[in-house]
Amino acid sequence: MGRIVKLSSVERFDGAVDVIVCGLGGAGVCAALEASAAGSSVLVLERFSAGGGSTQMSACEMYLGGNGGTTLQRELGFEDSSENFRNYLEACFGDYADPAKVDAFVDGAAEHFDWMEAQGVPYKRAYFDGRDVVALTGDSLQYTGNERAWPFTERSAAVPRGHLPADAGHSGGKVLMGVLLENARTCTGITIRCDARVRSLIVDDAGAVCGVAAKIDNRLHYFFAHQGVVLSAGGFIMNEQMTRQHIAGLDGCAMRHGNPGDTGDGILLGTAAGGHAINMGEAFVCVAHYPPPQLTFGIFVNEQGQRFLNEDTYLARMGDAVMRQTNQRAFMFIDNRNFARPAYQEHAQIVAVGETVEEVERESGLPGGALQQTVAFYNAHAANGQDPLFHKHADWLSPFDEPPFALVDYSLATLRPAVFTLGGLDTLPSGEVLTPDRDIVAGLYAAGRTAAGIPRTSAGYASGMSVADATFTGRRAGRAAAGRDRRPSPGGV
Ligand SMILES: Cc1cc2nc3c(=O)[nH]c(=O)nc-3n(C[C@H](O)[C@H](O)[C@H](O)COP(=O)(O)OP(=O)(O)OC[C@H]3O[C@@H](n4cnc5c(N)ncnc54)[C@H](O)[C@@H]3O)c2cc1C
Repeated sequence: MGRIVKLSSVERFDGAVDVIVCGLGGAGVCAALEASAAGSSVLVLERFSAGGGSTQMSACEMYLGGNGGTTLQRELGFEDSSENFRNYLEACFGDYADPAKVDAFVDGAAEHFDWMEAQGVPYKRAYFDGRDVVALTGDSLQYTGNERAWPFTERSAAVPRGHLPADAGHSGGKVLMGVLLENARTCTGITIRCDARVRSLIVDDAGAVCGVAAKIDNRLHYFFAHQGVVLSAGGFIMNEQMTRQHIAGLDGCAMRHGNPGDTGDGILLGTAAGGHAINMGEAFVCVAHYPPPQLTFGIFVNEQGQRFLNEDTYLARMGDAVMRQTNQRAFMFIDNRNFARPAYQEHAQIVAVGETVEEVERESGLPGGALQQTVAFYNAHAANGQDPLFHKHADWLSPFDEPPFALVDYSLATLRPAVFTLGGLDTLPSGEVLTPDRDIVAGLYAAGRTAAGIPRTSAGYASGMSVADATFTGRRAGRAAAGRDRRPSPGGV
């Protein structure tokens, strides 16, 4: 059967509600809760035997700020004006960004934190000042992106915006989703049907979406939506055909980061109904050159033996930069003082060790003299606390003067970095799905990684942007669908 079913061809409906939510991950559960809070009856259809999705697998770090700061930021003594937050996001995504979505997020992110707390998600009034992807100390606020790194420091004042559930470390997803799923389960206005994969959207003669067909117990069930359908089915990193088509440069060397349901169903359904998928070639690429933080003292060189980035940058920006080097090859050069194994990149391999830089260069096969020149130049300036090429912060500058020296391979083929997709349906900030001409597909909404949201590139990504975006846009889509006029049921429902 196709992804579109004509309303006129449906002989019998198995049920009718106001709003149908397709996918019970972070975006979906938030859409359901908000649509229900607005007075709509909600049916959630989830492909697997339980909800959660990639959101539940995640640390559920959320990137939030603005309006003077979230309650947590303010209580921990950090001010974060909306202008500062907007400047940072603009520095992150430039022309890739959707200004209307950035505005909506900047305006609403602080309230979003309060909503999460009101739902019962616990946050600790404690700040982690270290350099790590996720604080393992149980603290709830930390720096997660490029806020303290050049060139971002030229555009906005550094403020920590990573909000983590209390005492959860990498298991924050279980905490946050545990709370939200329980709230949805006990909400009388919400019906959840698991083992129900949405296969098709039902459209009327005018092209408006008014229901779905889902496979349940090996039979297609048809559900009518009086108000709207929200697509919240995650991204497409598990769909080999789609990743080969859209992010070819990464196919084959990447570790697919997500739940098995990330097969792009929501995007494919949305485009079949007239929606436009955008930003499809962009993905989060994780080259975690820290923790431990001391590895930030190392320098990265490409196969020409030349530096290409300030190493105090966030790991996804490093991923983007490595991807752009010749043959996607890159190496960390480091001395004995700061050498350590990277905590999250078990495949990173030492390719050369030597008592001198020349020895390392020879053993590694880098072009004669290139690494020596790079290290000599770096050392001369690091001794004065300067990095004239890439402006790495003085806190992370020290000359390499304690042999032995090592070169560690961070090439993508060696590393197999974790990757997830950042492309999806074009939507308004309300979640309404747009056609290529940016007309609204009536009755259809998308949220989370099914849509192209706030995070648009690996170069600008910061930990927490995806869950913040998914839950934030899920709420908005749920509210917008619930605000739509109810259309009467067709006969037979
Ligand atoms: C290990 C890991 C750690 C991460 N850590 C973070 C982090 O700390 N912070 C951050 O911002 N991001 C993080 N991310 C990314 C982030 O988790 C996801 O991008 C985000 O949670 C996606 O949310 P979503 O609601 O769009 O999709 P999901 O949470 O994946 O939900 C989609 C749901 O839709 C269901 N579904 C799919 N197809 C259908 C269908 N046809 N019919 C019905 N249901 C369907 C799926 O089964 C799933 O339950 C991490 C990702 C991973 C894998």
